Amino acid sequence: MLLYAATTNPGKLRDFARAAESSPSIRIEPLPGLNTIPSPPEDGPTFEANARAKAIYYSLRAPNLLVLADDSGLEVAALDNAPGVRSARFAADLAHPAEADTPNENPDNRNNAALLAALLAVPESRRQARYRCSLALARNGAVLHTAEGTVEGFILTAPRGSGGFGYDPLFFLPALGRTMSELPPADRLVLNHRGRAIEALLSHLNQQPATNNLLSPPI
Ligand code: IMP
Repeated sequence: MLLYAATTNPGKLRDFARAAESSPSIRIEPLPGLNTIPSPPEDGPTFEANARAKAIYYSLRAPNLLVLADDSGLEVAALDNAPGVRSARFAADLAHPAEADTPNENPDNRNNAALLAALLAVPESRRQARYRCSLALARNGAVLHTAEGTVEGFILTAPRGSGGFGYDPLFFLPALGRTMSELPPADRLVLNHRGRAIEALLSHLNQQPATNNLLSPPI
């Protein structure tokens, strides 16, 4: 079974392909021609709504292919689960000074600065956070399956480590005593929300009888 991932993010593509290595009958490749398709708006209220909308959108433009779409981000308990679906645009939404002062700065660094500022008065014990990833698989505009993965941690008061991307240098895993950025890439995938979501999706697909051609009715 060949799934086509609707993302150009090389880190996500690597994660998807690597996760599929454990399922001999499933391969995940980039959706052909993705660069030529205008991106859909990502303005749903939840990660799942966005993943579903993306999967439907791209699958309508790639007839008969199984299209895999994702949405993910960070939820911080002390911020009422913000930034959530706005994770990529947190600093911009808050009009954090880092936006104006450092216009050429990497957006990840600006978002991390905005997150640290938003949590300035929050003590370490109340900095619980969660990464969440939703995946949706669709064909010809119908969603066939969805899956979700989460990972729990804490937001540090200063970044640590250089691996990963986004909020990883601030996302601390107490059981390991390290941030996501400090983990080797293979461990990061096993542990993180994206790895867990793919695992759940692949496990569902592996349970389908070969004759089923995937699929319970569209959901
Ligand atoms: P996307 O819409 O799934 O590409 O992710 C939205 C934003 O969530 C990213 O720009 C990051 O800020 C954050 N994010 C999602 N997944 C991760 C992760 O694995 N590590 C760090 N940040 C992440």
